[in-house]
Amino acid sequence: MEETYDVDFRDIRGQLVLRRAAEIAAAGMHGLLMNGSAGTGKTMVAKRLPTIMPSLTREEDIEISKIYSICGLLPPDRPLLSRRPFRSPHHTITPLALTGGGAQARPGELSLASGGILFLDELPHFSRGAIDILRQPLEEHKVTVTRVHGSYEFPADFMLVAATNPCPCGFYPDRSRCSCSELQIQRYLDHIPRPVLERFDICVDASPVTYEELNGAGGTGEDSASIRRRVERARNIQAERFSGTRIRFNSRMGMKETQEYCTLGQEEGSFLKTVYETKQLSARRYHKILKVARTIADLDGCGLISRKHLSEALGYGMLEERLWG
Ligand SMILES: [Zn+2]
Repeated sequence: MEETYDVDFRDIRGQLVLRRAAEIAAAGMHGLLMNGSAGTGKTMVAKRLPTIMPSLTREEDIEISKIYSICGLLPPDRPLLSRRPFRSPHHTITPLALTGGGAQARPGELSLASGGILFLDELPHFSRGAIDILRQPLEEHKVTVTRVHGSYEFPADFMLVAATNPCPCGFYPDRSRCSCSELQIQRYLDHIPRPVLERFDICVDASPVTYEELNGAGGTGEDSASIRRRVERARNIQAERFSGTRIRFNSRMGMKETQEYCTLGQEEGSFLKTVYETKQLSARRYHKILKVARTIADLDGCGLISRKHLSEALGYGMLEERLWG
């Protein structure tokens, strides 16, 4: 089924790092965190993520449309949504509006994002209650709403994408505009609890678009359909890898699967060992690197993870290390 979206990756100039990160995230359903000042294209990229995810199957379309129908969000002339959802709730949203429930037991934003993208812009501005409520759905890919007369289960199987500013005012390190103290910046960043932070396998800096990029240089100008073809190929490899199991994506591999599917050659193994020891990586970071490297190798159509794949995956962990140690 061919969906039509009103946006396309073709519209984005430059931003090669963000584009690449988006492609890998979509291919392996990895959580994506983008850090940068306003106007660096974070929202533009997030909005276009559904356009590079695999085309909807009819079953998926029906499943997604059901939720929209319960919420009265389907236009009367359209029985099916026919596109992957993109939900971007404001940071003032309540935990209840995220999970759903209330007198009518209606699905919330987490379920409306199911099958697509949940984008949380300015993540540290969300209430602690709202951020904490994400933890269980991220684990179980569904939400359970308990009410007096019973409990309801709604799907909540989305890809988590978030954006952060470099500081509360958004202009750091431009000291002509930002006067946030180190303490204020740390407090702002620390507002994201570690268990949620751990969900972002890929963290990237969004840098301002250069004058040259603005005028057409440096951009690949590649459209969403071309990127989607590569993503679909990587997804097919994963479908085969995990057939007969409950796992569908590389990002959902546990310790056991990582060991089984991310075996490294001798050279690659000793490279990662050196990095692990010199950088004193945590076990969690180590597994994240392997999972992301697996997706990068799948995009390349490689059965074996190479050193190039590992190096790129390592790069996506640097930001987390720099900001959250
Ligand atoms: Zn500031």
